[in-house]
Amino acid sequence: MNIPFNKPYMTGKELWYIAQAHHNGWLAGDGEFTKRCNAWLEHRTGARRALLTHSCTAALEMAAILAEIQPGDEVIMPSYTFVSTANAFVLRGAVPVFVDIRPDTLNIDETLIEAAITDKTRAIVPVHYAGVGCAMDAIMDIAARYKLLVIEDAAQGIMSSHKGRPLGGIGHLAALSFHETKNIISGEGGALLVNDPELAERAEIIREKGTNRSQFFRGQVDKYTWVDIGSSYLPSELIAAFLWAQMEEADSITRRRLDIWQTYHDAFADLEQRGKVCRPQVPADSIHNAHMYQLLLPDLEKRTAFIATLKSAGISSVFHYVPLHSAPAGRRHGRVSGEMRHTLELSDRLVRLPLWVGMEDQQNEVIRQVIAAAE
Ligand SMILES: *Cc1c(COP(=O)(O)O)cnc(C)c1O
Repeated sequence: MNIPFNKPYMTGKELWYIAQAHHNGWLAGDGEFTKRCNAWLEHRTGARRALLTHSCTAALEMAAILAEIQPGDEVIMPSYTFVSTANAFVLRGAVPVFVDIRPDTLNIDETLIEAAITDKTRAIVPVHYAGVGCAMDAIMDIAARYKLLVIEDAAQGIMSSHKGRPLGGIGHLAALSFHETKNIISGEGGALLVNDPELAERAEIIREKGTNRSQFFRGQVDKYTWVDIGSSYLPSELIAAFLWAQMEEADSITRRRLDIWQTYHDAFADLEQRGKVCRPQVPADSIHNAHMYQLLLPDLEKRTAFIATLKSAGISSVFHYVPLHSAPAGRRHGRVSGEMRHTLELSDRLVRLPLWVGMEDQQNEVIRQVIAAAE
């Protein structure tokens, strides 16, 4: 028995579309497939402008440039997240200000954000953990009162919504990921979503090495030149062609993931009742995308034993994240606002189970082993 933690799902059309891109003879960025993917994202999220990037990390870096983050500025975010959430802003000289998470969703605790605001605060970066939406009403309200930008780290959030609004379509800017560990994939890949129309034009320029190349191609300017800072954030058409095959199947992929998620959830109800584990919580106002199925074990020692027991049964389960405020670079570049009680406790207790389209046949074995390991 060998059940991996993740296995990239292919819809079957990826190579066909790559062959079409090859046939079209356009391999650089912003060809037909990139345009299709951008339009699909705009349609599905309501974003004013969607721009494919080569990663979510790249989209977050673009967002930090667009937000005009300056050295010494402060950016509020959870500590319980992937490094790119913070790195994108540290690269611009900003100080990440880490706030604790809520024990139910593991998202940033919106009630602690106001206390973290200073004269230097420029932006709030909510991370939609496991594709479950943050309390965006409260966050947008705080941002409006203090004139801050909201940049959603929606790396895990495609096809999810909060109070009827798609994740990524709520803040001023948002970043998505199509890394192979996410729901909709292209190996490496991402997108920047621009919801504030005033930022759309500059986003195109930053993505095109600081040039007005996109406007030139549309015939809006008669020469193309260096007009701003920027870098190369475009993916090749080959990546976009692969991604298009995934977007076409986004509904069925999400349905299948949700079925797997629900099967786990039903199977572990009894374990939770008996106090052996806590299952994930999804608030009634959120529709999630089954990005992740995670359990909370009673403590670090029990989690370590649990992962080892599953491993000996051939099942791979993993934990994450080392809280950023406690990591070497986080201590050097960031600061903490308030206590990190839930971040520290839950990061020691959380374990993620295999969840990938195609594992349906093997899921009962995982469930059997999890129930045995949690005893
Ligand atoms: C995966 C992930 C990222 C990074 O995505 P890449 O596409 O690999 O750059 C950033 N933030 C969060 C919360 C993620 O889960």
